[in-house]
Amino acid sequence: MKSNHRWKRRNLFLLAAGFSLGLNTLGLTNAAEAPLLPSTNHSITGPRTRLKGYWVGRKPVSPSLKIVVMAGHADSQGMHGSGTSGAAVDLRGAAPMDPRMRDELFWNQLVRDAVAAISKKRGLSVTAYDPGALSIADANDPRTNWSVARKRSSKGDYILEIHFDAYSPHGYGSGLIPALNRSLNSVDESLAINFGRFPRIFRGGLGGPRRGISILEIGMLEGDLEANLRNPKTREATIQTIALRITNALELGVGRKEKESSNPPPDEADSAPPTSNPQANSVVE
Ligand SMILES: [Zn+2]
Repeated sequence: MKSNHRWKRRNLFLLAAGFSLGLNTLGLTNAAEAPLLPSTNHSITGPRTRLKGYWVGRKPVSPSLKIVVMAGHADSQGMHGSGTSGAAVDLRGAAPMDPRMRDELFWNQLVRDAVAAISKKRGLSVTAYDPGALSIADANDPRTNWSVARKRSSKGDYILEIHFDAYSPHGYGSGLIPALNRSLNSVDESLAINFGRFPRIFRGGLGGPRRGISILEIGMLEGDLEANLRNPKTREATIQTIALRITNALELGVGRKEKESSNPPPDEADSAPPTSNPQANSVVE
């Protein structure tokens, strides 16, 4: 039954993709209006997810939407679900970045804080949340990401949790796993256009998305991405580039354009074109 459903979705998608390609061939859409097709582009964050979703975030949001950005696994160290150690530590025996935590959390925290800092400068309503303890055994403790997400999400706030995916062959690549407790909106769409799109029901529905968290997998913690993060000479630029990509996507998602004065990242080509309109993607389903 499940595979039947997938078949149907896949055929619908191929039809939609063929339709949009046809429009392009006929010159009926310009580049800015053309639907973006799922891509396997490599960038500093590596390949996009090999498991693809075909959902579309259509619901508009307020430009003043409150966004809470969290670090994945921030309260789950030393227990089940503590995140990936990354290829350097697991496969090559490198020392962890911080012995108190898995490398994934180390990077998740830096990206979270950089997104909050850049967003503040842009005047976006983005705040970082930290549970204040690395190990909280009870998921229902009011300090956990899950508890705060459930509460804030029910008020209509957008919850974004930063993650790095496991290395090959366990990981899937970059992309958004959207929240399951609400309609998918233009912020989900903008992040998916920029980073990739996981199936909406990923692994039967993860705990975070059920509580209103949209999980952003930056990329698999391996290869150039991990090397650029670990190298002290490229670390800051890598974090800033990733955080800028996320902030740009959030800004587009809430319907605000990037400020003209903002400095483009060193590899601007990695980012979605500033003119791309998340709503324009709604043809692809
Ligand atoms: Zn994770």
